[in-house]
Amino acid sequence: MSAEFVEEMKERLMAERSDLMHKLQRDAQRFKTECKTGSGDSVDLASDESAFKKMEAANKLDANRLTAVENALKRISENKYGICLKCGKKIPEERLRALPSAVLCIACKTKDERRR
Ligand SMILES: [Zn+2]
Repeated sequence: MSAEFVEEMKERLMAERSDLMHKLQRDAQRFKTECKTGSGDSVDLASDESAFKKMEAANKLDANRLTAVENALKRISENKYGICLKCGKKIPEERLRALPSAVLCIACKTKDERRR
């Protein structure tokens, strides 16, 4: 794996990280505003709750992605980027290009998903 490739992935990861952070911040802000303006009667409360659940789910997804991105950046700083976290084999560059935050090779990732 070339230093240029790692550098390129690092840039993409840092861009993704700041995107996700902004998004999470914006959502938190929006939710605060919505809570303040909510009238509090039971009908609104019900719709608020489902909106909250939806946002919570989206937030969780973003938070998970942020964690993955941070893990990948950590791997870069440890000079272990592109090496599978589980089996220690190299992750193909095409996979990293498609998903810069990948820390598992496809075989381990598939096993991981099957277990869940
Ligand atoms: Zn592996």
